[in-house]
Amino acid sequence: MCCINYVILQHMTDFDAHMHTLKLRVTNPRKTIFEALSDASEPLSIGDIQKHCRDIDRVTLYRTLEMFTKNNIVKIIHIGWKKQYELTDLFQPHHHHFRCTTCQDISHVSDSEVEEAIDTISIRHGFTVTSHQFELEGTCRYCLTGNTNRELLNK
Ligand SMILES: [Zn+2]
Ligand SMILES: [Zn+2]
Ligand SMILES: [Zn+2]
Repeated sequence: MCCINYVILQHMTDFDAHMHTLKLRVTNPRKTIFEALSDASEPLSIGDIQKHCRDIDRVTLYRTLEMFTKNNIVKIIHIGWKKQYELTDLFQPHHHHFRCTTCQDISHVSDSEVEEAIDTISIRHGFTVTSHQFELEGTCRYCLTGNTNRELLNK
């Protein structure tokens, strides 16, 4: 299946159902950590997740994230020097990130041209791509113009 169809046809998987399929128990910490990631509009660091899950000790947090990563629930993304966590494409639409190195803002990039280019390149090299990461760093338009009033510019 090619990337583009995948983006359009995918539907959001239910966490409980996914865990059930994997024969994993949905414990309170697991659910809380999943919800923290699910509510976030951008990737979260361990510290960010900890803030949302104050009752969960660090060992449980690390173990849960490791288990989530192994089971395709969470993926680790490397934006800048930070390791961050985000739900996989099973639970949210496929996308990439722009990170502004001035204001640290992270925005989503969903562009079919990126996916087409990855398809074209992999076919050309006879390589079967099963997953990819594509994160971009630079300066956002607000920082570029020195205009911090985002609402005004978004009009
Ligand atoms: Zn994201
Ligand atoms: Zn910026
Ligand atoms: Zn992509």
